[in-house]
Amino acid sequence: MTDAVVCNGREYRLPTQPTVVLTIDGGDPRYIDDALSRGLMPTLQAMLGNGGVYARGRGCMPSLTNPNNMCIVTGVAPSLHGIPGNHYLDPDSGEEVQLSDPRFLRAQTIHEALQKAGARVLMVTAKDKLRRLLGTGSVPSISAERADELSLPELGIPDLTGLIRRPKPGIYDWDLSPYAMELALAIHKKAPRDLIYVSLTDYVQHTQPPGGELADCFFRRFDELLKDYLDEGFDVAITADHGMNAKPKVIYLEDVLSTVGVASARVVLPITDPYVVHHGALGSFAWLHLAASEVERAREAIAALDGIEDVYTREEAAVLFEHPADRIGDLSITADAQTALGKSAAKHDLSGLTPSGLRSHGGRHEQLVPLILSRPLREPYRGRHRAGASTADIHDFILNGIDS
Ligand SMILES: [Zn+2]
Repeated sequence: MTDAVVCNGREYRLPTQPTVVLTIDGGDPRYIDDALSRGLMPTLQAMLGNGGVYARGRGCMPSLTNPNNMCIVTGVAPSLHGIPGNHYLDPDSGEEVQLSDPRFLRAQTIHEALQKAGARVLMVTAKDKLRRLLGTGSVPSISAERADELSLPELGIPDLTGLIRRPKPGIYDWDLSPYAMELALAIHKKAPRDLIYVSLTDYVQHTQPPGGELADCFFRRFDELLKDYLDEGFDVAITADHGMNAKPKVIYLEDVLSTVGVASARVVLPITDPYVVHHGALGSFAWLHLAASEVERAREAIAALDGIEDVYTREEAAVLFEHPADRIGDLSITADAQTALGKSAAKHDLSGLTPSGLRSHGGRHEQLVPLILSRPLREPYRGRHRAGASTADIHDFILNGIDS
């Protein structure tokens, strides 16, 4: 039996005790800092007082769910794993499609590599949109969203909802994420796992800032479940795929471009996913596909707008953001923390937003994420964790870096 595997150029030790990586979708460090400061997370507080470590790290750009979840589970950047958005423009068909099918993934997941070496792994996601990507390579993968339809016959579990003594919450209920954490732990108790990945949903974070009533419910319950995992003997890593900011301002790029006579532009918003009620497909990152003759004119017009931060060509974005050049736009556009980017005012339904307004992500100002480990790190991991680590490093830290 081997005790380590190589995956995408990095070596990972097989876990010697149960290990879980928890990704709080939209888990901006400000939520955790606020909850800790008000005593809402006593288990996390105690864990950090007993040798656990918490630093801020960096998610990839765009600061979206699918790209960063794939960084977390493959340990590499989008240029290597191939998923630069939740959604992209397929150059062959000319259609916009979800980047949710395993055929888009260009790197192996750490879970697949460990499973091949004999480790017992499991992926659990709150939102079904990630389930098939996470399950690449025959990794057992389920979602809370479809827990009533899915099963794990390979683990001897024909009925998932029977594991939890309460009804399955809906996709826009605050406790769908806790349900996903409960499911993963219940499965582990029936069929012990060596490594579990649990990815939550950001509905609460899109809806409320730190200190909001639902946000408080969410982080209190998260902390109770953290205790259940620690009591069960797990080593725990906690991170997020991206942060979250209020975005009172929207720039509609097609409307801007039509006023300067750019006729060929097609705006693609990589935040787009099947669950747009809470963000209306508006985030702080956009791609523009357009005729070569219009690229410079469009670039100048957009770069001049108040609220725009970066306008990069395909080649520049591929280098700066480590993106796969064949899956991004001719221009990549980022907006500031308070500004979201849309297609045209007529194309976005904002009726589902809460009265307090749009909260979203996708830009540079939602790249800060927590990187939390339940046990101390040894050098050189300790130094790397304190400065300059990313979501792609979290499995390296928890599998290779903790003192044992
Ligand atoms: Zn997310």
